[in-house]
Amino acid sequence: MTALPPGSTIGILGGGQLGRMLALAAARLGLKSHIYAPEADSPAFDVTPLSTVAAYDDEAALAAFAKSVDVATYEFENIPAATIEFLSRRIPVRPGPKALATAQDRINEKQLARELGAMTAAFAKIDSLGDLERALDAGFAIPSVLKTRRFGYDGKGQAKILKREDAAAAWDAMRGQPSILEAFVNFRAEVSIIAARGEDGDFRAFDVTENEHRNHILHRSVAPARLAPDVSDEAIAIARKIGEQLDYVGVFAIEFFVVNDNDRDRLFVNEMAPRVHNSGHWTIDGALTSQFEQHIRAVAGWPLGAPDLKAAGAEMVNLIGDDILDWPKIAAETGAFLHHYGKKEARPGRKMGHVNRLLAEPPR
Ligand code: AMP
Repeated sequence: MTALPPGSTIGILGGGQLGRMLALAAARLGLKSHIYAPEADSPAFDVTPLSTVAAYDDEAALAAFAKSVDVATYEFENIPAATIEFLSRRIPVRPGPKALATAQDRINEKQLARELGAMTAAFAKIDSLGDLERALDAGFAIPSVLKTRRFGYDGKGQAKILKREDAAAAWDAMRGQPSILEAFVNFRAEVSIIAARGEDGDFRAFDVTENEHRNHILHRSVAPARLAPDVSDEAIAIARKIGEQLDYVGVFAIEFFVVNDNDRDRLFVNEMAPRVHNSGHWTIDGALTSQFEQHIRAVAGWPLGAPDLKAAGAEMVNLIGDDILDWPKIAAETGAFLHHYGKKEARPGRKMGHVNRLLAEPPR
């Protein structure tokens, strides 16, 4: 595919804040967006000229959507595979079905990471209480975490196993879904890499980002992460290999645990997101090209932009629930870049916006 010219339309499945920021980035490049989402009050609808409110299995709506766009992408990985296959028969969908199938499943992600030589926590496939009990009886590490293989986010669909007797309650919490048992990783930090692969195979990575969670939800990200250069380089090398292996087109994120072992940091791949990622929101104001513009460039077959930091460092703080009520104070702060997602209701735990700041010194 040659680059889609300005005036072309990018179809985006999903209408949350990620879709909203993708649509804003597309508009800046003169590209139109068409947002497809099931919820009528989706935040992305405020900023797009074309929208469809329909279920992901509504074939008539999907067929009409496919006719109206030049290429389609998605802002979250839980889009049913059948939806992507239906669209792929009509228009290019980026990233493609292979990348989505891998990233939708925690076991596939970890297997791929290992095949490519990266480390992960020890893991086991669990499809029943019997599987779980057998794994624990055979000496699987405790403490461990049981997670659903699919559809988990922000700590949802996870249960800790601190002692053998926790097994039944942990399995109950999975509600019968295919699951993965992971050994607990005693990490000193969590970092992520956001990278992009273009249609021509060009690869660009943003600075590795260090992430702090509160109540399982990302609270603050800073870049560059406080890592030795060889460790940052390893994160980038892993991302490059994963991107190549999946023949990926677009932006993706890989989250890692940093484990200190004999004074040396080692990276464990935790999970992959086949999309723009919350820990990359600092790039909107802190990098020469934002992750959203980078994704639109990749999907539209444009050359990728430079990912370099604009300052010594950058930070992003999420505005969760009532944090958003501080918007007047943030709006009055010199150097604070406020991003408000326009969501009407500030429920606890809901991502309502974020604030970016450039840092004069790299994080210490
Ligand atoms: P995830 O949904 O896999 O990103 O997990 C959410 C959070 O739970 C992570 O960011 C970690 O803080 C924690 N966590 C998940 N898996 C593990 C693990 N195997 N060992 C230690 N902490 C974990």
